Amino acid sequence: MIALDGYRGLRVGVLGLGRSGLATCAALGAGGAEVCAWDDSPEGRAKAEAAGFSAVDLTRQGAVEGLDALITSPGIPHLYPAPHPVIAAATAAAVPVDNDIGLFFQALSGLEDAPKVVCVTGSNGKSTTTALITHLLTQAGRPAVMAGNIGTGVLSVDLPGEDGVVVLELSSYQTDLARRLAPDVAVFTNLSPDHLDRHGGMGGYFAAKRRLFTEGAPARAVIGVDEAEGRYLAMQLGERADDLRVIRVSSGQKLQAQGWSVFARKGFLSEWRGGRQVASIDLRPMAGLPGAHNHQNACAAYATVRALGLAPRQIEAGLASFTGLPHRSQLIGERDGVRFVNDSKATNVDSAAKALQAFPKLRWIAGGLGKEGGISALTPFLGAVSKAYLIGHSARDFALQLGQTPYEICETMDHAVARAAQEAQPGEVVLLAPAAASFDQYPNFEKRGDHFAALVRDLIGDSAV
Ligand code: ADP
Repeated sequence: MIALDGYRGLRVGVLGLGRSGLATCAALGAGGAEVCAWDDSPEGRAKAEAAGFSAVDLTRQGAVEGLDALITSPGIPHLYPAPHPVIAAATAAAVPVDNDIGLFFQALSGLEDAPKVVCVTGSNGKSTTTALITHLLTQAGRPAVMAGNIGTGVLSVDLPGEDGVVVLELSSYQTDLARRLAPDVAVFTNLSPDHLDRHGGMGGYFAAKRRLFTEGAPARAVIGVDEAEGRYLAMQLGERADDLRVIRVSSGQKLQAQGWSVFARKGFLSEWRGGRQVASIDLRPMAGLPGAHNHQNACAAYATVRALGLAPRQIEAGLASFTGLPHRSQLIGERDGVRFVNDSKATNVDSAAKALQAFPKLRWIAGGLGKEGGISALTPFLGAVSKAYLIGHSARDFALQLGQTPYEICETMDHAVARAAQEAQPGEVVLLAPAAASFDQYPNFEKRGDHFAALVRDLIGDSAV
């Protein structure tokens, strides 16, 4: 845990008492601050009190006025669609509002032997890229810990020494609010519309992520340039076209001009510097990184660890031993030439589209609590689907949007897995990529993926990985 010495003797409000809020209370308490903890839910307050922090009702008239700072959790709106009343009151009273990420960088700035910090942001692929960077470093013998949205809360990490690296996954909510951002390497994976209500639209969403680079001023910026926003950001950060501070990354485009770039085409990763290719890796055998979207993640992770001094051959070995994260293109096993893949995290049409393009022939398990707009946007990606097995609340809705693709309404995961496994031919992949939230049948996407994996393991026994 990190002790936040900068707040000794000060009165600090902590709003939101989930995992990161409780870690913030502990870190502030350890540094000698007077912590005023508040959560709108009684369960949250009970957890804080059980951990020894007094609940102070910050919603009371005038309650925030005596605070030296207010630290809030990412799930609580700070500006759009409307600020939480406690944040609105703090803002009006000129009390600085911050989050655990800002506190983390503040604590680090006082350390002599601080580790390097990598921050990963973007719309998709953050977790995979964060885990992959951590894996590549660890495999190469560099101490590395991952934290933030993935793994441990950022204030709960045990900091490695100065030869080590902390790899943080950061959401747009976090980069928007943190008062201090000071990554050594910052990564922007890609951008597509998400959380627009919390950012007042696409411009606000991009601006929130851009703060990591403009406020953070990283020594190296790894930027995915497959969208206009990434290209713009890369241009804006570089002093000249050959500025090596920016590493451009693409899945699909050749980036061979001056400067530094890493791109994947037809399954091969290439690194170019100053108009020359300096390394290349065949990504096709990397079982934990299937599909063009994972090749984009591989390029971003490769560029990051190159910036931290790893050699291409070390990285190649690490890419080969990466097994992927649970619920993201996760291979569960193979029987009689049929592979079973869990992408339960594909809760929206965008991520399901990527999964559908990652494999040549598919038995597709989809459905759940569908989102606005349905799945008609998936029509161009259904070519590889031999048959869809539909589950959950939106099964019938989805069926109406499948065009000529054969389908079967299965209702439950048990039935869908059994039917898909029965009908799958050698060379096909049985893919769970629901394109829908899970809440109609499961508490979360992890439980849905675990259920799929358990059913598959029952079915294929020893062939599971
Ligand atoms: P995040 O942490 O940004 O949500 P994850 O790595 O957890 O990203 O992946 C979320 C979903 O998006 C998964 O379904 C995954 O297969 C898909 N995905 C992973 N990487 C990418 C990428 N680079 N572009 C688009 N989709 C991706």
